[in-house]
Amino acid sequence: MSEFGNESVTVIEATLNDVDRALERLRVGTYRSCQVCGTPISEAELIANPLLANCPAHPELA
Ligand SMILES: [Zn+2]
Repeated sequence: MSEFGNESVTVIEATLNDVDRALERLRVGTYRSCQVCGTPISEAELIANPLLANCPAHPELA
């Protein structure tokens, strides 16, 4: 653990949380839809960022 700072651990944990949420959204069928307004997220955007949870109008609430 000493070779990795707490900052790295925090980033990894945040990423794991994002993956968990993406998998949960896949399970319930809301993956590909904005969590805020339900707008479908384009395939190109999901390819660029598979963990994308929101449409471009609501980026700060991901
Ligand atoms: Zn939205």
